[in-house]
Amino acid sequence: MELIFLGPPGAGKGTHAQMLCKDAQLAHLAAGDILRKNVKDGTPLGIRAKAVMESGALVSDELVNNMMFDAIRSLNGYKGFILDGYPRTLFQAEALEKFFAAQKKSLTAVINFDASEAVVVDRLSGRRGCPKCGKIYHVTNMPPKKEGVCDVDGETLTIRKDDQPETIRHRLKVYHESTKPLIEFYRKKKLLHDVPADGDASSVQKVLEKLFEKLS
Ligand code: AMP
Repeated sequence: MELIFLGPPGAGKGTHAQMLCKDAQLAHLAAGDILRKNVKDGTPLGIRAKAVMESGALVSDELVNNMMFDAIRSLNGYKGFILDGYPRTLFQAEALEKFFAAQKKSLTAVINFDASEAVVVDRLSGRRGCPKCGKIYHVTNMPPKKEGVCDVDGETLTIRKDDQPETIRHRLKVYHESTKPLIEFYRKKKLLHDVPADGDASSVQKVLEKLFEKLS
């Protein structure tokens, strides 16, 4: 199964991809996570991407396309994958289509996380993450057992630099301008499934699991 998770930042794409991938033997390929790892490791890609990411703008299509194609090519032993936060522009979507055709793969579905602006701003402002295992929390909606500490490995949770109010506003503007047109792009191809994403994580997860069964 080859899926795309589409939606504004803070819609829950990463949280639900983490939940679904665990049971379904799917790889979770999150463009933002792969970029952040490159920044942390100081790779040439990371050095080029760092300032762009901190400003909330998009890293160049060419760099991100190549990075994601490499990530897909190097998968081994999975039953498929979820692309989270990729594609984010029409140019990326078209490049991905060509890549899939060359690899003789086809896209199973695109899940559109339909979340309102007020909800995503609240989620991003309260988001915390584990710098070691990547598990995502929220200070009130999905708190860790012990405040500020990851349940999995005891690491101190951190706030992403781009989850500051100014940058959040810019990321949402970028979403509306560059990424939202993908909804119609995939709807026309009859691949799009809308999932209302304003509710709490467990209710959204139930809807996703049902949809997942239908798609499998
Ligand atoms: P995310 O973790 O998905 O919120 O992504 C964090 C940041 O990484 C974004 O604000 C962009 O700067 C960059 N990024 C992630 N995915 C992409 C993409 N598909 N195209 C361009 N830039 C991206």
